[in-house]
Amino acid sequence: MIKKADAEHMDAEKFFSETYDEARSRFLEAARLAGARINHYDNPVARGPGGLPLSLDTAWFGPADATTVLLNTCGTHGAEGYAGSAAQLAWMTTCGPQDLPRDTAALLVHAVNPFGFAWGLRATENNVDINRNFLDHAAPHPENELYEELHSFLCPKSLDEASMHKMLAAGAHFVERHGQWALEDAMSRGQYTHPDGYHFGGHAPEWSNTTIRDIVKSELAQALRVGFIDWHSGPAGDGELIHLCFSKPDSAEFARAAHWWGRDALDPKTINAMWGSRRPSRRGIMFWGLEEQLAPHAQFAGAVIEFRSAQQKVNPAKAIRASVLERWLRFESGLDAPEAEQYFAEIREDYAPHRKSWHVNVIRNALECYRTTLIGMSEWNRESLRAAD
Ligand SMILES: [Zn+2]
Repeated sequence: MIKKADAEHMDAEKFFSETYDEARSRFLEAARLAGARINHYDNPVARGPGGLPLSLDTAWFGPADATTVLLNTCGTHGAEGYAGSAAQLAWMTTCGPQDLPRDTAALLVHAVNPFGFAWGLRATENNVDINRNFLDHAAPHPENELYEELHSFLCPKSLDEASMHKMLAAGAHFVERHGQWALEDAMSRGQYTHPDGYHFGGHAPEWSNTTIRDIVKSELAQALRVGFIDWHSGPAGDGELIHLCFSKPDSAEFARAAHWWGRDALDPKTINAMWGSRRPSRRGIMFWGLEEQLAPHAQFAGAVIEFRSAQQKVNPAKAIRASVLERWLRFESGLDAPEAEQYFAEIREDYAPHRKSWHVNVIRNALECYRTTLIGMSEWNRESLRAAD
């Protein structure tokens, strides 16, 4: 039986790293000590601060031939990996691997986007949002009609007060004509026209995309049932989980995720309330890419799970500030600008704040989520055996 972990009485802070390099070393060390089968995938081109080599690492726990596997990724959105990496470390170093149901394996993937993780940014070395990059790039890309207009005013050359004021006035004018949701949707759903813009989905599969697909191909070839947790962070709150299940709402996979985490947790009403507004639409996310890749031989159930992390945003300028800062650092000033250190710290506070309550809540909620997911996956395995009898 998988025990309940008591995050309040453990020093939750100790699972959080200050840098990608530290998080990576601790992941590898904990995986080694827990007896995992480890693999490294070095990024051939991108580097972190100070020329730091970047790698995506995996750790496999449980039987090599398990047909029921939990696939758990972090750092798909770079800097959001601090929370997911801490969750993985907590699972590996507390009761996780020992309590793994005997018929189930777990494949932990550390730093899907190591460039973003190492720099404390969200997108990849090519400014691509990995979670908009999983679609057929040979086919025409999805349209995002309103993005063009947004791009013209959301990409200021300078971040001084006058420029910010101008940007906000243009934003308010846009909202008057199209509504608040249209702005959030056009900005974040994914666009394929402006490589120097927001949530750019790319024109070809990114290194992170092809690498994770290679991993799925080689490590999950025998799998018949894959559970999926992709850890993210960002929405305002204090470590609470938002379960974004991208299975079709009437599918067996959606029902399975609802069985693990509660139907309420997957209800759009709950999600919108926790997200802070009606959820924007999405294109090209990794969930669908992996679901499609596995479809010939495995069922795929799970979610993108957000740890709420940022402070409540008091106005629209604050709400988009982290995104504006990231774009400005990449395209206007360079990552070595004198302002960079301060801006990196500001972005970091949104995705991985230093609050003690946040650390405790992230670890408690993550461990509970691993527990319920793995219990559910073991049931899933037994059901399939009974069905085969
Ligand atoms: Zn994210």
